[in-house]
Amino acid sequence: MNKMTTPSKAPLVQVRDLQKFFTTQRGPFGRAGDTVRAVDGVSFNVDRGESYGLVGESGCGKSTVGRLVLRLLDPDAGGLVFDEHDITHSSRPELRKFRQRMQMVFQDPYSSLNPRMRVGRILEECLKVHGTVEPQQRGNRVAELLTEVGLSPAAAERYPHEFSGGQRQRIALARALSVDPEFIVADEPVSALDVSIQAQMLELMKNLMERRNLSILFISHDLGVVRYFCQRLAVMYLGRIVEKGRVPEIFDKPLHPYTQALRGASPIPDPALGQQLEKLDGEVPSASAPPDGCHFHPRCPRATEYCRQLYPAWINVDEERAVACHLYDPELSDKMAPEKRLRQD
Ligand code: SF4
Repeated sequence: MNKMTTPSKAPLVQVRDLQKFFTTQRGPFGRAGDTVRAVDGVSFNVDRGESYGLVGESGCGKSTVGRLVLRLLDPDAGGLVFDEHDITHSSRPELRKFRQRMQMVFQDPYSSLNPRMRVGRILEECLKVHGTVEPQQRGNRVAELLTEVGLSPAAAERYPHEFSGGQRQRIALARALSVDPEFIVADEPVSALDVSIQAQMLELMKNLMERRNLSILFISHDLGVVRYFCQRLAVMYLGRIVEKGRVPEIFDKPLHPYTQALRGASPIPDPALGQQLEKLDGEVPSASAPPDGCHFHPRCPRATEYCRQLYPAWINVDEERAVACHLYDPELSDKMAPEKRLRQD
């Protein structure tokens, strides 16, 4: 089932300084309006067999990153490497050979499944498009896929609307698995499901990952879900990553005030830690007019005048952990002293 195409130790996916800006349109004649800096210099790697989390509030650019990584959108700048092949500027025909190896699972399984097709036909179409299974074997393969995601082979005869949300997400997963991918971008795959169904779905995805040695970019607004599912994570705010590292360390000791706020809002709160965590007020500013300096400063309880002037550089805490916040720059302790904060309690 699993295709170990290469023994390489290099990360399966490498994302370097990725940028994607959109121009909004104004008025009835579609004049160019504002430039939205949806993704503004994002870098991370996904290792083979790893689940990497991308976390942030709605509108932070994480879903755009997911689409860029699969080259469903073309980046404006930066680099993308998949299995040691630079695919940043690959043409559509060149990308075809990678398409089968990279798949996507969306938040809303209903809108991603054709309501007029029976489930068996939906899965068979995928097998047909990618030419991975002989026509006479497709029925058996569909039954295997449905069984693999915990559904009865009889589900092939039914339509998507006959299933619950959790079952539909299993069908969407079966469709993604039908081409034996090595890498899946899962964009909020459980956020539309009830908590108990979420747990079952995450468990299923974990088992599939291990069995198939899959790599997953797991996009979520929920730090608690990412804690359960991922080994490493990056936290995004307004198009940029502000903190990244291993999940246990980030969860136990979030450094960036934004990560601390997300941690505090997580549905599995830690009463001891809750005392020290920042509270998050206000709305995310528009990505078409990000605040000067640190983009987080209008909402940050620890912001000083210096934060208003300069975007923070990356501070490397260890080999995996890094944070973009002036608080951790040893040379700025005088500028970041508590008495210099813009907001005093
Ligand atoms: Fe807050 Fe300043 Fe750090 Fe930005 S750089 S997160 S405003 S303390």
